[in-house]
Amino acid sequence: MPATPPSPRPGRGGTGSTRLDSYVDRYAARTAGMTASEIRALFSVASRPEVVSLAGGMPNISGLPLDVVGQAIDELVRSHGTTAMQYGSGQGDPHLREQICDVMRLEGIEGHPDDVVVTVGSQQAVDLVTRIFCDPGDVVICEAPSYVGALGVFKAYQVDVVHVEMDEHGLVPSALREAIAHVQAAGRRIKFVYTIPNYHNPAGVSLSRERRPEILEICREADVLVLEDNPYGLLGFDDEPSRALRADESEHVIYLGSFSKTFAPGFRVGWALAPHAVREKLVLAQESATLCPPSFSQMAVSSYLTSHDWLGQIKQFREMYRERRDAMVEALDDMMPAAARWNVPTGGFYVWLTLPPGLDAKAMLPRAVTARVAYVPGTAFFADGFGAQSMRLSYCYPTPERIREGVRRLVGVIEEELELRETFGAALPSREAARSGYDAPGSELA
Ligand code: PMP
Repeated sequence: MPATPPSPRPGRGGTGSTRLDSYVDRYAARTAGMTASEIRALFSVASRPEVVSLAGGMPNISGLPLDVVGQAIDELVRSHGTTAMQYGSGQGDPHLREQICDVMRLEGIEGHPDDVVVTVGSQQAVDLVTRIFCDPGDVVICEAPSYVGALGVFKAYQVDVVHVEMDEHGLVPSALREAIAHVQAAGRRIKFVYTIPNYHNPAGVSLSRERRPEILEICREADVLVLEDNPYGLLGFDDEPSRALRADESEHVIYLGSFSKTFAPGFRVGWALAPHAVREKLVLAQESATLCPPSFSQMAVSSYLTSHDWLGQIKQFREMYRERRDAMVEALDDMMPAAARWNVPTGGFYVWLTLPPGLDAKAMLPRAVTARVAYVPGTAFFADGFGAQSMRLSYCYPTPERIREGVRRLVGVIEEELELRETFGAALPSREAARSGYDAPGSELA
């Protein structure tokens, strides 16, 4: 039967259905999880210059040598323009794939360029891996909390997320073992464990060296794949890069990397390193999604890697982010009420802060935005409504002075909330209330 065309938009003052209503029945079931939350609107206010945004995870690329990048791109257009502006291989540029293997060697990975698939940022790699492995109702295990952009992908593919506890050393092996056993005993299929082992987004913690073999062993024993998402691995403040999970296990691990944080996110170049057989399916999925990843971006990244001291540039990024981390942690130490808790990240972009008991980060956000400071409430990073007492604070983008000012404003709001609770004895919102909506706020997705 032919579909009924959508009814026209009702005129001004009309009482009929809106234009959107008439499409609702047509959407695929998978779009049911694609809902904007009520805090999205707040973030349009939060992007105003007077607001200190501790919300977004935008890399601070102000230190990039634009003249060098400009020259490399100029040269690229002059010498290889017709290739750079043409369709390319679905798997990605062969030379870039070799260079990607050099980058991964810093984390102990001996990968082959044939097993690398270039993607439109590692975000697309999460999407493609989920697309080839997950049917509706399959289970993916994620840390608690987990990356909001990955949770969005899992939701879109109608995957059930099971969260597993983390502590200051990362994913807790006993909790992972228990969760896997529990899900499998219920007869459900776990397709992979999605983990961010280094400088976690949003939790700021890293998986300890001791736990890495244990996590791999648990997954091997249970025959569950690991999806290792590692965009921040080279951004540690003190240590050499940690050995990747993929460095010690090539058959059960799909590794994801990105140039977004070590070079620039605008090129949208990331990659997956997969077991050989999986690589084949990923390329087919990539071809059906985009035909090929953008040639121009790949060649620009490739020539940057060739013509510039990219490791020196990463060192500079690390220094800059360390200075900002220090500014945030010092400000929190100086000003936060004693009952609040936070971690001190050793790399990456994020601090995870838990408010004094009884406070709700999502409920408090409008007041914070009025006080000209923004953060992402913890509920954004859980698929199941938890996280109301926590928030993610990003220190990557604002200057140290602005970070300090942002924390000062945030502390003002928290103190006000504490006073209000003392005066009126406000009840904690129920778990159901915290569950409403999916907190994926546009540009704050990073
Ligand atoms: N994974 C994690 C953990 C991230 O934090 C991000 C972005 N911030 C991504 C993947 C996606 O990054 P991109 O697509 O820019 O490579």
